[in-house]
Amino acid sequence: MIDGKTRLCGLIGNPVEHTMSPVIHNTLAEKCGHNLVYVPFLVECGRIAEAVKGAYALNVLGMNVTVPYKSDVIGSLVEVDELASHIGAVNTLVRTEDGYKGYNTDMTGLYRAMTSEGIRIEDEEIVLLGAGGAARAVAYLCGAQKAAKVYLLNRTLEKADKVAEEVNNAFGREVIVPMLLTDYPKLPERKFLAIQGTSVGLAPHEEDVVIEDAAFYQKIHTGFDLIYKPFTTRFMRLVREAGGEAYNGLKMLLYQGIIAYELWNRVEITEEEAGLVYEKLKGNIGK
Ligand code: NAP
Repeated sequence: MIDGKTRLCGLIGNPVEHTMSPVIHNTLAEKCGHNLVYVPFLVECGRIAEAVKGAYALNVLGMNVTVPYKSDVIGSLVEVDELASHIGAVNTLVRTEDGYKGYNTDMTGLYRAMTSEGIRIEDEEIVLLGAGGAARAVAYLCGAQKAAKVYLLNRTLEKADKVAEEVNNAFGREVIVPMLLTDYPKLPERKFLAIQGTSVGLAPHEEDVVIEDAAFYQKIHTGFDLIYKPFTTRFMRLVREAGGEAYNGLKMLLYQGIIAYELWNRVEITEEEAGLVYEKLKGNIGK
């Protein structure tokens, strides 16, 4: 029941109507017996600094940040965690004594999701499709988790070049190899972990896929699509048809939320509790 001691957390972004984060946080609050409510806040263009200041003044415990404010919000924070600072994007604000500290739980969430499925990054040769906001952060994660090599394939080569330069500089080694998307036949003859980080295949364009050629999928032992709507993407089907294992991005969404919840409430969420939230999320996307 909402009473005088109820704490507030929320999501700031534009748009926010589609978000599943309230399902994650309100379920966790209920399961953990925390007196906490999570709501979405639509923030109009140009008003992110006001929104953060207002949230702090209103004693809001923590915030998630989504598109288009993940970079813009940084100027309103008192501190930024090292990984988030490298990536240049923050999706979680944690209340401190003087203001909010920023974190990037999208990436730690992806790492926890992969680990929970038994997928390794360390020493792996990886194919990363895309060089947008999400793929850029994945490239950092791969650098930080000591991937052997990441072939970064993008439709616009300049964007792949830029991400490669930044990440290679950050880690002091040539871990990212930028390539044009259509150059996938030039990939070495071996099996890769492939991470699908483009927006191609997202509902309602469920039959779209960034590479159609079945020969490409012969080179993938495990495919991880950041998309979770549809639950089984065309990319995942093509990986499975070629004999590989395939996963969607729903556990990434789940764990980015769980890690934010843990930071706000200084608790550890058990795998059993995570499983309950996961089932609710699946129900929410019609699975
Ligand atoms: P973004 O910054 O807009 O980047 C989009 C990427 O897709 C770019 O690399 C772009 O290539 C590529 N792309 C778009 N249309 C294309 C086409 N027709 N052919 C080839 N490439 C195309 O988007 P983002 O924020 O990185 O998000 C990417 C995906 O990750 C989205 O589907 C999002 O839902 C998903 N995501 C999931 C989670 C999760 O929790 N599971 C979290 C974050 C994001 P160019 O550079 O050439 O334009």
